[in-house]
Amino acid sequence: MIDEKGILFILSGPSGVGKGTVRRELFEKANDLKYSISMTTREKRAGETEGIDYFYKSKEEFETLIEEKQLLEYAQFVNNYYGTPRKYVEDTLADGHDVFLEIEVQGAMQVKENFPEGVFIFLFPPSLEELKNRIVSRGTESKELVLQRLREARKEIEMMDAYNYVVVNDHVDSAVSKIQSIIQSEHCKRDRI
Ligand code: 5GP
Repeated sequence: MIDEKGILFILSGPSGVGKGTVRRELFEKANDLKYSISMTTREKRAGETEGIDYFYKSKEEFETLIEEKQLLEYAQFVNNYYGTPRKYVEDTLADGHDVFLEIEVQGAMQVKENFPEGVFIFLFPPSLEELKNRIVSRGTESKELVLQRLREARKEIEMMDAYNYVVVNDHVDSAVSKIQSIIQSEHCKRDRI
């Protein structure tokens, strides 16, 4: 029987591991995948666009979304809220499209409670030293925020066992092609007659 609902893929892992870069590169190639744009209360960074990178919300607006149960998951990360719009994900899956989330670890664990059939992919840094270099070289964070993000990263790595797949991000191209293989193989699993 062909399952007509789309598959929910969740890419997670520590901040600085390169989730954003891998996701953008994947979307250059994967035209059948729908990206769920998150809501956040963090400031827009240079080069980011409303409705493409995030939907930017005030703290009050975000808390209303929480109260109205409009979020599939949300988390506080480095003093800001981040969350996934529930309706977009549910409607898009019901329409038969695959949905791709790129979120941090606390949120991924909430999604696992609601969507245990989701496919959880943990993007792993080549090393903690490399992760630190990546966060520092991004140059968008103060020293205190860099340290905070590294502390979060150490905690997040402990959650790896809860995932279906682990992909080491040593080279973007190879991480992307591994994720494409995962997507293909999950379809082969579900497309049984
Ligand atoms: P950044 O501020 O660097 O864009 O994102 C910080 C962290 O929040 C990253 O690990 C990113 O994957 C995560 N993130 C982005 N959107 C969401 C979301 O909707 N929910 C959760 N839980 N985390 C998110």
